[in-house]
Amino acid sequence: MRHIVQNTLKASVTFEGVGLHTGKPARMTLIPAPAGHGIVFKRTDIALGNTLIPARWDLVERSPLCTRLVNAAGVSVSTVEHIMAALSGCGVHNALVEIDGPEVPIVDGSSAPFVRGIMQQGVQRLGVPIVAYQVLKPVTVEKDGARATLLPSDGLTIEFHIDFAEEAIGRQSRTLDMRNGSFARELCDSRTFCRQADVEAMQANGLALGGVPGENAVVFDGARVESGLGLRHADEPVRHKMLDALGDLALAGGPILGRYVGERAGHALTNTLLRALFAEPGAVRAVACDAAMTARLPGQGLIWSEIPAEQRRVA
Ligand SMILES: [Zn+2]
Repeated sequence: MRHIVQNTLKASVTFEGVGLHTGKPARMTLIPAPAGHGIVFKRTDIALGNTLIPARWDLVERSPLCTRLVNAAGVSVSTVEHIMAALSGCGVHNALVEIDGPEVPIVDGSSAPFVRGIMQQGVQRLGVPIVAYQVLKPVTVEKDGARATLLPSDGLTIEFHIDFAEEAIGRQSRTLDMRNGSFARELCDSRTFCRQADVEAMQANGLALGGVPGENAVVFDGARVESGLGLRHADEPVRHKMLDALGDLALAGGPILGRYVGERAGHALTNTLLRALFAEPGAVRAVACDAAMTARLPGQGLIWSEIPAEQRRVA
């Protein structure tokens, strides 16, 4: 029985910093929650009305550059993908995420600080089976030359392909089975990236106001790269796209059992894919995981002390 349970955190953990797009500071605290609670954000800076925002695909508002959740009362939280990836990748299924601002802190542009904070507190088993979403037939969505697909598979695999004109990015592909802590080992420290041309366009539109090249985002300008102390992986961009995909897929409401294939996909397309998955009759079913299924989920088998120090970003 020891594997087939939902998890939460053993204790609360707090992160602080500015939002990538708003530039606004926020303090965010992950608080342990009971089985069946799921991941729910709570805006503590708003006094009146419903300030709870469940981390669910059907509350995602169309937003090209980040994943923004909006509840029925119009209360929102932006850029949830990196904390969602960290929670999913560490196998945390239940938490209340209190935040006193409109956007999740970007920290270093990756999920590594969140993973480190979560794993330092540790994960608490709750004695209730995990409900996963098992993909039963292929679903594909396409837009503007980008494509995202979910295929049946007995565990979660993420496959991603990108193709940028910037020579320092170019074509990159990677496939990763998400079991055995592979998110913490392979993906969590890869940072947000963009092109210099995008930075200028975003800032003209009032976005990326908290972005500091090399500090919380990697910026590519032709062959030039502003990456702080250098890239963390030769293919850091495609790894970050996989991190984003894990975070966006976590909005299914539970782990996905399926193979995700992203081809130049982004946040909006992955959300369109989840909408298509849940709209298509017979494409997905909720299953209470047995021990064998649970062992294939992200975060299962993750032993923090076994992750090499450079991946943990421990100074
Ligand atoms: Zn991202």
